[in-house]
Amino acid sequence: MRIINFHTHIYPEPIAEKATAAIGKFYTIEMDRIGTSEHLIKECRENGIDKCVIHSVATTAHQVPSINNFVIGECKKHKEFYGFAAMHPDFTDFEPELERVIKAGLKGVKIHPDTQQFDMDDERMFPFYEAISGRLPILIHCGDYRYKYSHPEKLARILDLFPKLTVIGAHFGGWSMPDLALEYLKDRNCYMDISSSFFVTGRKRAEELIKIYGAERMVFGTDFPMWDTKAELDNFFALNLTDKEKELILHKNAERILNI
Ligand SMILES: [Zn+2]
Repeated sequence: MRIINFHTHIYPEPIAEKATAAIGKFYTIEMDRIGTSEHLIKECRENGIDKCVIHSVATTAHQVPSINNFVIGECKKHKEFYGFAAMHPDFTDFEPELERVIKAGLKGVKIHPDTQQFDMDDERMFPFYEAISGRLPILIHCGDYRYKYSHPEKLARILDLFPKLTVIGAHFGGWSMPDLALEYLKDRNCYMDISSSFFVTGRKRAEELIKIYGAERMVFGTDFPMWDTKAELDNFFALNLTDKEKELILHKNAERILNI
């Protein structure tokens, strides 16, 4: 079965080790892998993953173009990659950058409100959400009990305000609060990825959440370099899902979102 890993992170070689360690510190998780393209491709090959969507987050507006250049460059080098662009609320002249990344073949946008330190429903983001509606999907990190920036309630608000926006709420729409996310995101028009979730939900609850939301809303991801690819696939394949559901989550939904 074709597998697309929808949620992976890579960093430029010279800073990869430091950046990976910083993420580990942010999440107080031991990081065994380093977030480079080379390591990611190796893990994919070893585990039968055909493609991955790569993300890189800009912590300042100033970084946006250079990070996008990096993602574009890695996608050109590696046929296994689909790239998502970085964005930041202070990057106000976003339209030319948007045109540029679309022309260069990027397939979406990723934001991480907690590390970028802004509310995902901050009005500064509204023109951008409007501009990408119907044009590019956006993956939004959701739900960290330590911050309010990425609360699933804010995602629900964005879905109300921008009905044409294609959103993927990362981590069942609520990284450390998947059950609370359910209150806000059940029966809503958004996708979710199941990355960085099993450590909170366990297999049984993950299976229940997939059944409640519906497999047609879910995409598989590992949040590389956060988790071991094989262990995450083992978790996924242990779920009691039909082949049709597995197919949707492992590649069909991703193909629809990415328009490939
Ligand atoms: Zn992420």
